[in-house]
Amino acid sequence: MSTIYEPEHIAISKSKGIRIDWKDGHHSEYNCAYLRDECPCASCTGAHGTKPEKTSYSQPPKDLFPMYKPTIRMSEVEPVGNYAIRILWNDGHNTGIYSFEHFRRICQCAECQNNSKE
Ligand SMILES: [Zn+2]
Ligand SMILES: [Zn+2]
Repeated sequence: MSTIYEPEHIAISKSKGIRIDWKDGHHSEYNCAYLRDECPCASCTGAHGTKPEKTSYSQPPKDLFPMYKPTIRMSEVEPVGNYAIRILWNDGHNTGIYSFEHFRRICQCAECQNNSKE
C-alpha cells in the first residue's frame, strides 16, 4: 500500500523556491538550485538510456575558476492536472514536471533525511 501525498498549501517564490505544507502535517522547503538539480525529466535523469544531464547548481564549484553560472530561478510555474507542477527555469530548461510524489521524495527535512538512510 502506498501513501498518496497531497499538498495542503503550496507557496511559490520564483526567485527563492517552493514551500509545501502537506495534508499529513509534513512541511517541506526546496530552494531553486536544489529543485533544478532534482529535475525529474528524462534528459536530466537519463531515463531514455541517454547520459544524464544532471545540473549542479546546488553544489559548490569544483574548479578554482568555475564557469559562470547564472543564479537559477523559476521563470514560470504551471499546474499539471492535480498531481504535479511544471517548472520553467531561467536557464531555458522547461521539461521538468514535478509530481507531488517526487517533491515528497526529495524532501530535505531532518525527518526525511533520517528515513532515507535506513
Ligand atoms: Zn530536466
Ligand atoms: Zn520531509
